[in-house]
Amino acid sequence: MAAEQAHAIVIRTVPFSETSCVVTLFTREFGKLRALAKGAWRPKSAFDAALDLLSICQVLVICKSSGGLDLLTEARLDHRFRVGASLPAIHGGMYVAELLDALTADADPQPELFDVSEKTLLELSDYDGAEETIGALVVHTELAMLRIIGHTPALDRCAECRAPIEITGRTPFAMLDGGALCGRCRQGKHAIVSVSYECMAALQHLAAPTDFWRTLTLPPRVAGELRAVMNAFLTHFIGRRLKVAPLLSFKPRPHGARPS
Ligand SMILES: [Zn+2]
Repeated sequence: MAAEQAHAIVIRTVPFSETSCVVTLFTREFGKLRALAKGAWRPKSAFDAALDLLSICQVLVICKSSGGLDLLTEARLDHRFRVGASLPAIHGGMYVAELLDALTADADPQPELFDVSEKTLLELSDYDGAEETIGALVVHTELAMLRIIGHTPALDRCAECRAPIEITGRTPFAMLDGGALCGRCRQGKHAIVSVSYECMAALQHLAAPTDFWRTLTLPPRVAGELRAVMNAFLTHFIGRRLKVAPLLSFKPRPHGARPS
């Protein structure tokens, strides 16, 4: 069987033996696949750092036609995720990988999802920007991923009846029913949270596929509420809480310090 070439993000690795591992890759060409990397953890492995978590690499993989593991024959590093001084940036990168894994099925190519994830990982690698931006970047990425897979939460229309919703005060947001609800549709629904005007406005800006969100200044209260809404929405959508979610932080640097 011929080896296929693919552009890949390493989203998980687990040991297979003392020297080999099973690597979960999200590839631009073939979607998510799990491949055995024989000898990956030998001291002079041909894979080198290409299989570190969050690495972006070019791989050669022999895909099994029915079940079983694919076989990774080559991996060449394009970009290694660099652990800089920002812990939230590292957590953000790990979260993107976990979310990619949770939101995708095996062998379902979604090039746009790959591109969005790659762009965010490249920005978070060796991050030296304002830490307040990381939380917004992560939410922007989550909303982009949900849009690409067709599950954007309703933010300006009722998730149920599709009537436009004017955001003026607090908005009922249904975790099980896909987002904002009008007053009429809210009746009798469960798993509703009441979202502030500021948080709804921020969600709308962050959901737009532009860079306008970078102009936003999110007060810590709104940033915290955003994170809570996204955590709850994704927990309901995926059916479990993502492991890295509790580590995501919007906290500013101590004493308001900024990188020089
Ligand atoms: Zn409605």
